[in-house]
Amino acid sequence: MRVGIPKETRLGEKRVACTPESIDRLTKLGLKAVLEEGAGLSAGFMDAQYAEKGAEIRGAKDALCAEIILKVHPPSETEAKAMKSGALLVSFLEPQHRDGLNRLASGRVNAAALELVPRTSRAQSMDALSSQAGLAGYRATIEAAARYPRFFPMMMTSAGSAKPARVIVLGVGVAGLQAISTAKRLGATVQAYDIRPETREQVKSVGAKFIDLEDATKERQRVLLNDKLEQADILITTASVPGRKAPLLVSASTLRRMRPGSVIVDMSAAQGGNCELTVPNEIVVREGITIVGITNYPALVPGDASQFLSRNLISLLTLFWSGSSIKFDLTDDIVSASLAVYDGEVRFRGY
Ligand code: NAD
Repeated sequence: MRVGIPKETRLGEKRVACTPESIDRLTKLGLKAVLEEGAGLSAGFMDAQYAEKGAEIRGAKDALCAEIILKVHPPSETEAKAMKSGALLVSFLEPQHRDGLNRLASGRVNAAALELVPRTSRAQSMDALSSQAGLAGYRATIEAAARYPRFFPMMMTSAGSAKPARVIVLGVGVAGLQAISTAKRLGATVQAYDIRPETREQVKSVGAKFIDLEDATKERQRVLLNDKLEQADILITTASVPGRKAPLLVSASTLRRMRPGSVIVDMSAAQGGNCELTVPNEIVVREGITIVGITNYPALVPGDASQFLSRNLISLLTLFWSGSSIKFDLTDDIVSASLAVYDGEVRFRGY
């Protein structure tokens, strides 16, 4: 049976769903890879590296009409149309967009969504949200450092000294924790806040200070947090709730109180933003503050992002593979949770 790996078509995407290293795993499973010509090029993987591992290099159509398709992004209308009835697609599917799922159901394409893999220990090797969020947290911090007009670390030179940058991270999930670690490694002083009190220890364990607001009332919390934000040189916001609009944490009036030259990296830009003035997919300057609204950080680290994603995709695929045919074992909790479209029906009922 063939596994198609088409080239991603979404604007700005540089990742590929399967790297040459993963072709070995497909071969071991008894599967034959069909790669669209040049699909790995923007992530640094040449066709020849795939061919060496035994993959066939073909056109887009051949990759899309395989029995199994591995992708990064949900297929476009044209891509979905090219897929065969009965095929299995494993990919990020953005299941909140019903149209895409309906389209796959009407073409009788079965589809497993990476977003719907439960965050349990058995599913850890398939947790692409976490693998990509970690990379994103790292890359977002690098973006902040590059946009900030000063140093991150303390510097002592013959021309004088510079103080370390003060970084605040809001939201301490996977992306936030990696942002904290990266900022620490770059030499900044870092504070962080999350509404989940259990993150306090995680923040401390990576050498940052937790902003403690637990004993204050809701209104007082807002005031205290705003006072803190005013003192930040760099603010990295990652606060989000799955399937919902991101919480607004930085109002235009708070931003006005920050120092000119400060940088806000709003990692939740695609979910509506944690900052009122964020513009998704743009970098804007408001009141002297640079607000970064990049929405696809993993595409800016495409080599490692593809490597991790490819491993996650193949781990998930193994649950749908009997050794000789595609199987749908709905008694398996990971299969049942991730299978968004099956047998002409949309199974995903919402977050
Ligand atoms: P996550 O769910 O692991 O973490 C989100 C954290 O936000 C949680 O710890 C939650 O408790 C916290 N939170 C929720 N409401 C809050 C509030 N009002 N105040 C403070 N904290 C609050 O998510 P993640 O995987 O770390 O991703 C974080 C964000 O980054 C998401 O918006 C995600 O979409 C985004 N992201 C962006 C990219 C990109 O390329 N731009 C890539 C990966 C993730």
